[in-house]
Amino acid sequence: MPTYPNNAIQDSTIETHAKALRDTLSSTTRVYHPDSTEFKTLSARWSALAGPKVNVVVVPSTEDDVAKIVQYARTTGLPILAFNGVHAAITTLGRMQGGIEIYMGQLSNVKIAQDNKTVTIGGGTLTKAVTDTLWNVGKQTVTGTCESVSVLGPALGGGHGWLQGHYGLIADQFISMNIVLADGTLHTIDASSDLWWAMKGAGQNFGIVTSLTSKIYDIEQYDWAIETLIFDGDKVEALYQAVNDYLSPVPAHLINWSYWLNIPNIDPNKPIVMLYIIQEGATAVSPTYTKPFHDIGPLSIDAESGDYRDLARWTQVALDSPPSQKTGLANPRFPAYIKEYNVAAQKLAYDAFAAEVSGNSPFAKSIFMFESYPVQGVQAIESDSTAFAFRDDNILTAPLIAYMPSSDELDRQAAELGNKLREIIRRGSGSEELHAYVNYAFGDESPQNWYGYEQWRQDRLMALKKKYDPDCRFNFFAPIKHDTYREE
Ligand SMILES: Cc1cc2nc3c(=O)[nH]c(=O)nc-3n(C[C@H](O)[C@H](O)[C@H](O)COP(=O)(O)OP(=O)(O)OC[C@H]3O[C@@H](n4cnc5c(N)ncnc54)[C@H](O)[C@@H]3O)c2cc1C
Repeated sequence: MPTYPNNAIQDSTIETHAKALRDTLSSTTRVYHPDSTEFKTLSARWSALAGPKVNVVVVPSTEDDVAKIVQYARTTGLPILAFNGVHAAITTLGRMQGGIEIYMGQLSNVKIAQDNKTVTIGGGTLTKAVTDTLWNVGKQTVTGTCESVSVLGPALGGGHGWLQGHYGLIADQFISMNIVLADGTLHTIDASSDLWWAMKGAGQNFGIVTSLTSKIYDIEQYDWAIETLIFDGDKVEALYQAVNDYLSPVPAHLINWSYWLNIPNIDPNKPIVMLYIIQEGATAVSPTYTKPFHDIGPLSIDAESGDYRDLARWTQVALDSPPSQKTGLANPRFPAYIKEYNVAAQKLAYDAFAAEVSGNSPFAKSIFMFESYPVQGVQAIESDSTAFAFRDDNILTAPLIAYMPSSDELDRQAAELGNKLREIIRRGSGSEELHAYVNYAFGDESPQNWYGYEQWRQDRLMALKKKYDPDCRFNFFAPIKHDTYREE
């Protein structure tokens, strides 16, 4: 029976392992010790809660190097984990108590095929590189919104992005990929592989993707516009009623996000509500969408226009925006998908959130996120065709409880608050089921919450896990446990 691979490298043997890796890998691959500056930089993470611990950082420079590292780890019994944009905050990663970090940053490249129909992306490429390279030749594809997140990180869990109303999730763009499996072999897989289904929603469990070929599209609309409206927290009910009445279902060319957060110089006593209404193919957001919100009486309205590349900056997820920085904060999220807003539940959640994050609260930097992406492209794809299980849901909600970690007790309070807020939203949805986007997950959810309640989904994932990763080598991110799995 396999056990969880979790043996840290003893300090006395780090140099032996580092030397063995250097001797095996190509000359431009880098291997870093814990006492080097590079180690500290390359192992720092976006969320400081329950992060994985590593003893050696290896920065492969070829796809073959990744295969050799996985082979080496397998032979020596050492744990491994891919580090890419390092934004994953799921606490299951904290079960890694030592081992080899595979930092993917040298496998960053974007190559458009000669027929201009596909793009091949290195396994360590960040979103911005793809967006910019494609834009320069009049093309685009679905990526995550945040410039500092990798392409593969979101994609392997499904992947939400600005263009999903037209083309589906990031994973729906996959044509083929190179993947290093748990036995250390490198394969090219596509729709003809039984593993293909699992890579679109549960992919972190099955290997390390060293490159990906995806669909690309002609840019049809160059113009984009945004209105950012800030409301007093007292307007929560009116605002979400208006979202239900005027922005639901969200048209394919429209996105609305809202955040609850403290901005003390606007309201020193309680969180404000910030609403983004974003429109594609317009130089100003149409009054059809904005007037109902102007009528509620926002504290401020800001309008901007530009193109697709401006979206990240407008919504504060650009490379240099605050949410892209590693600040030492713990940033756990507690996601719940819903179909529409329950206005009474929004009010209950707001009041509970405001009570806990206002004033001198250690959680004062928290944000409650509500992301309404258009779903037409997502729902046009058969639900059972991918491991991503929640195509019927429309809105991604998540409190993000941000705080400077200082004690187990504070961590416990943060988890309690996050779960309490999420539970208000779930109960308001009227569903017994909790649908949690795996890429936002906290870590205390069940495989049903991450990968769907249908038994056939769980059975299929477990069978594939047993076939492709029988020793559970890739089990730190939202793990799938097959039936002979035993945790030590
Ligand atoms: C500011 C911010 C913005 C975000 N925006 C979006 C968004 O717009 N859309 C969305 O869907 N999600 C978004 N997310 C969530 C995001 O999808 C997850 O946090 C994701 O895990 C981040 O991927 P990463 O590469 O940055 O992180 P990492 O922590 O480096 O990677 C996450 C996990 O993915 C696996 N992994 C990474 N690379 C590979 C690879 N090449 N092969 C195999 N496994 C790999 C590893 O298991 C790793 O632990 C956002 C998160 C943040 C913090």
